[in-house]
This record gives sequence, structure tokens and C-alpha cells, in this order.
Amino acid sequence: MEQYQLFVNGRFVDPIEGRFFDTLNSFDGQAWARVPLASAEDVNRAVAAADQAFRDGPWARMLPQERARLLHRAGDILPDHAETLARLETLDTGKRFVESLPQMKAAAAWFHYYAGLADKVEGALVPLDRADILNYTLREPLGVVAAITPWNSPVMVALWKVAPALAAGNTVVIKPSEQASASTLELMKVFEAAGFPPGVINVVTGDGAEAGQALASHPRVAKVTFTGSEGGGRAVQRAAAESLTPVTMELGGKSPQIVFSDADLDQATNGVIAGVFLSNGQTCVAGSRLFLHRDIVEPFMDLLLSKMTDLKMGDPFDPQTQIGPVANRPQYEKTLGFIERAKAAGAVCVLGGQAASGAGLGQGLFIEPTVFTEVTPDMELARQEVFGPVLAVLTFDSEEAVVELANDSPYGLAAGVWTEDPRRMHRLARQLESGTVYLNTYRAVSVASPVGGYKQSGFGRENGVEAINEFLQTKSVWVGLAEQTPHPLAVAATPNND
Ligand code: NAD
Repeated sequence: MEQYQLFVNGRFVDPIEGRFFDTLNSFDGQAWARVPLASAEDVNRAVAAADQAFRDGPWARMLPQERARLLHRAGDILPDHAETLARLETLDTGKRFVESLPQMKAAAAWFHYYAGLADKVEGALVPLDRADILNYTLREPLGVVAAITPWNSPVMVALWKVAPALAAGNTVVIKPSEQASASTLELMKVFEAAGFPPGVINVVTGDGAEAGQALASHPRVAKVTFTGSEGGGRAVQRAAAESLTPVTMELGGKSPQIVFSDADLDQATNGVIAGVFLSNGQTCVAGSRLFLHRDIVEPFMDLLLSKMTDLKMGDPFDPQTQIGPVANRPQYEKTLGFIERAKAAGAVCVLGGQAASGAGLGQGLFIEPTVFTEVTPDMELARQEVFGPVLAVLTFDSEEAVVELANDSPYGLAAGVWTEDPRRMHRLARQLESGTVYLNTYRAVSVASPVGGYKQSGFGRENGVEAINEFLQTKSVWVGLAEQTPHPLAVAATPNND
């Protein structure tokens, strides 16, 4: 069985205490590799390496143009590793290989985009109301960035953080999820091959409660960027508060999909199905709260259910498979718990609603794609993130009412609107309390467009030009121009900074 090592200071190394844990194949349930269980001491070592690389050595002296060249090189090399990375993610997460592979191929764009921004970070000359002093600003990196990532798309989510952080001149320590660590360790081969100096990027694997806490609370970490659940986010923010370390939070959602009576039902059903059943609903933007206008409930549901019959569940490496296994046992049990409680609360299960096993399903943790109707806004299923293949269907009568219903949620990650009325479309785009709004499409993503949450879905933005600002700080520089200065105790004509 393969045994992975931590990546610290440019080398693959065993954990100091020699502890490892098994990582499981989501389809056959067997351990397929051993992954280091890092201790606080391993975290110290990784942070020290990152801190040293930030303060001293080639990275600290590197011009932005040279950082850009390294990032471009990593982007050129990544596609050669895409297949291996996709295979590891499919093994660990059960995400179908036909989904993992394009995602890994697309990931190179993050290197190239932020390589392009690395040498465009500009300060400003500040127009003052006095001539005897010059003031300008410098935009500087923060230091060691801790990137804590979830299991659903480990490499992609890591690159959303790492590419802009490195472009800005920071160094990074990544702590991937204990449920899917291998691909992030494998990704380090891309950085090695591109020639990044030692210590610029490091990976410590292990438990959130141990390695994650040690990293988030580390006094030499200058910034924590976290993607994961609300609970994990709260724990990380608390840990970071100890050193007053700034945090970015990319958390979960209960994203509404709103279908008006004038919508193209074929397109809308496709968008709703893809929105919640691709990757088994294990995506942050899963459109798991469907609002149907009362006039189209019947035709919409008939069409949706007809498209959901006879789906092929099975091996996530089989290109014919349409639904793969749920990623891991905690997620499987959590999802089944939601289904049972929704039934008990009076929601009507019109599709799926149970675990699946048998021929062709190996030892995988399968759950049938599940649809509940008669869901009311106060039910748990309408309020909490399942992060699994479960769709809650609610109804509405008016535009005003549905905006209120959709916004009645602690979350605000994404929202979908399906209508042929362009004015209504753009009215809703403004009214929905959500970091992303999709109009007649769903799940689109690009390195060029900012992603992030409103309300309890998080704060800070990833992707797009503004993401690099999460990893920069502004310094104000004052330069005296006068040949002579007044008596030191004379009252200044304009206020001093006190
Ligand atoms: P999680 O919160 O359980 O874990 C995320 C990471 O945090 C892991 O590396 C974990 O080890 C670490 N962690 C957990 N508890 C910790 C603690 N006490 N201290 C320090 N670190 C800790 O989340 P998950 O189950 O891996 O991921 C699923 C969640 O991620 C869902 O809620 C999903 O919506 C969210 N997500 C959000 C986005 C986004 O962009 N907003 C993207 C992907 C996933």
C-alpha cells in the first residue's frame, strides 16, 4: 500500500511522531494508502520553513516577474499530472472520473491567471493637501498563509488560495481534509518540477482538531484562508482570534433555485438536476432548495422525475456511471439522517430516499438521488445544508414572496433564477442575498469571476482580480520634501498622526 509523506521545506518527509492513518477508496471501502497524521510539531516545522522562505532566501528577493514565471511554469506542468491527480481524487471522494479529470485539466488556469497578476500589484501616489510631504503606498504580502481545505475538491480549492497567495509574494502551508489528502500531496510534485524554492509551499496532513487547530492558531501565520463547513469555520476563526490573525471564510450553502412559470422547462430541469445531483450534491453551491411557481409544479416535476429514472449508479471510474458513491461514511450517515428526519417531519419523498447496494455497487456508500416535495420553509431540510444528493421542493405564488422565502436563510452562497423575463431576472439578481446569482444557468465557474458568500456562507472573495487583495496589506510611506523643518515644538499647520 502506498505511503505518503508530508511536504515540508521542499522535501517529502515522514511525520515527526511517525503516525499515519488509512485513506479509504470510496467505492470498495478498502484502505488504498497511508497518509501522515501530523502533530503540532510537524505544523511548527512547516510554518518555520514557510516563515524562513518568506523572510530570507530566493523567494524573499524574487521580483514579481520571476514569481510570475514560476507560476506560469507550474501551469504548464500541471496538465501532465492531471490524470494522476484526478485518479487520486476519484479514489478518495467517489467523484466520477469524468468529472474529476476536466476539473484537474482546468486547474492550470489558476496558475496562469494569477501569474498574470503577480507583476500588476501597484501602490499609489496619494494626492495630499500639502506640498512639503510626499505620500505613497506599497502593497505588500502578509507572510505565511495557512490554507485549510475540504474534501470535496481538494486540489481545485487549494489552488484558489495558493495561486493568488503566491502571486502576491506570500508563502503557504496547506492543511487538506483528512478525508482526501493524497491529491494535495501529489500536487507538490508540480511545484517541485516548476522550481519553487524550498519552504514556499508546504503540506501538513492530519486531523482538523490537531493539525488544523495548530496551524490556525499558530502565531507566525499571518492569514488563514479556510474552505469548509460552518462548524469547522467557527473553530478555525476562534483559533485564529488568539493571534488576531485575519481569516477568509468560504463556507456552506442552502442555495435556492427559483423557477418561474415562464421558464423554459427543459433547460430549467437540466439546470436543477445538474445543480444538485452532479458530484452527488457534494458541492458548496448545490442548488438544494427548489422553489417552483405553483402553476408549473406538475409539468416541472413530471419532466424532472422522467429525467431522473434509470440512472446508472456504480464505479466512479466507469464512464457509463451517472451517480457515484457518497464520499465517506460521516457524509453518508449525515445524509441518511437528513432523509429520515425529512420523512418524519412530513415531507413527501417522490424519488429515492434510501441507501442503495447490490450488484455493481461494490462496497460503496451509495444513496439514491432523492427528491422531497411538500417541504415547508421551516423544515430542517429547507434550512440546513445536507451536502448530499437531496433536493427539497417548495412552491411560491409571487415574485415578491419567493424573494422573501429565498432570502429567509442563514446562508447566502449561490442562487439560480429561471425565467424568460429579462427585467425580472435582473431585479432578482439585485434582491437575492447571495454571493453568486445564476440567471438561466447554474454552476458556472471561472478563475476570472469572484466567488464567496453572503451571511453565514462566509466572507472574503476567491477568484478574479480582487482575490489577490486577500493576501496583500497596504503600507503608507511619508517622505519629507522640505529643505528646512520648523521648530520641533511649533504647532503644525496640518495635523500630525497622533
Ligand atoms: P470541514 O469543516 O469538516 O473541514 C474542512 C477543513 O477544516 C478540513 O481540512 C478539516 O480537517 C479542517 N477542520 C475541521 N475542524 C477543524 C478545527 N476544529 N480546527 C481546524 N481545522 C479544522 O468541511 P468538509 O466536510 O471537509 O467540507 C464540506 C463543507 O465545505 C461544506 O459545508 C461545503 O459547503 C463547504 N465548501 C465550501 C466551498 C466554498 O467555496 N464556499 C467550497 C467547497 C466546500
